Amino acid sequence: MIPYAFKYERAASLSEAERMIAQSAEAKLLAGGQTLVAAMKLRLARPSKLVDISGLKELRYIRVGNGSVSIGAATPHNEVATSADVVRAIPALAALAGLIGDPAVRHMGTIGGSVANNDPAADYPAAVLGLGASIVTTRRSIAADDFFKGMFETALADGEIIKEIVLPIPERAGYRKFPNPASRYALVGVFVAKTKSGVRVAVTGAAPCVFRVAAMETALRRSFAPEAIAQIVVSDEGMNSDIHASAEYRAHLVGVMARRAVADALR
Ligand SMILES: Cc1cc2nc3c(=O)[nH]c(=O)nc-3n(C[C@H](O)[C@H](O)[C@H](O)COP(=O)(O)OP(=O)(O)OC[C@H]3O[C@@H](n4cnc5c(N)ncnc54)[C@H](O)[C@@H]3O)c2cc1C
Repeated sequence: MIPYAFKYERAASLSEAERMIAQSAEAKLLAGGQTLVAAMKLRLARPSKLVDISGLKELRYIRVGNGSVSIGAATPHNEVATSADVVRAIPALAALAGLIGDPAVRHMGTIGGSVANNDPAADYPAAVLGLGASIVTTRRSIAADDFFKGMFETALADGEIIKEIVLPIPERAGYRKFPNPASRYALVGVFVAKTKSGVRVAVTGAAPCVFRVAAMETALRRSFAPEAIAQIVVSDEGMNSDIHASAEYRAHLVGVMARRAVADALR
């Protein structure tokens, strides 16, 4: 066993969390702990200090208004999945949250932790990018298009804390994923959203980072129907390849999941 010790501090407010996290470059925020604690057990992460924000009520809410749904960063997936407001405003988002992991993960894991972590196979990044959401932090508001930078990499600076995610309400949206049968993470997941200004198609699981498919967006803008994208071939270049699925298979799944997501959006 590799010996390792760290400090634990529980923040009583967001401003206190900001102060605590600023005190050490090696400190990390702890939200649901569903990724971070496992990474620490494996010694893949060795923060000098954990700043626990999971109890902050000021980061745990769902508000609907001004054409968008705003979700506090410390809101667990289960609250998003079961919120009547989310089900009414963006049913595809509630459905996506209900597909994450298992009940234990959904009761502990948070939207802020998931988005900050930017796991290549996580579900929320597809919705955040697909809806053209904004990530509001303690310092600024970041457009989803500028937020997800690469595998486990985001635009967040050291000590910057996500406060909320603001998701515009689309006219229609759908999400489909082909889950890994063990973890339920997405081998491939596709979120499709139709808004007044156009169509956005965001893919998770297939590549090192969530990405948009411009050819599908153009075709769906002309005709929002599964057949409109049936002939689009997605290249397997740069796609993930592992024991679960080859790059070629993942590229194929992008098309299949996208067509099903569009069909769901039309229901
Ligand atoms: C068995 C299992 C199955 C899973 N299956 C799925 C799945 O199917 N789909 C899926 O999408 N996910 C899945 N997950 C991941 C889970 O959904 C969590 O949301 C995710 O691990 C991170 O959220 P968390 O709240 O637990 O964050 P933590 O583990 O506490 O933190 C993760 C990272 O985010 C940082 N962080 C946390 N909150 C903030 C914030 N407000 N601002 C800035 N940085 C912050 C932390 O410092 C840390 O670096 C699974 C996890 C497990 C253990």
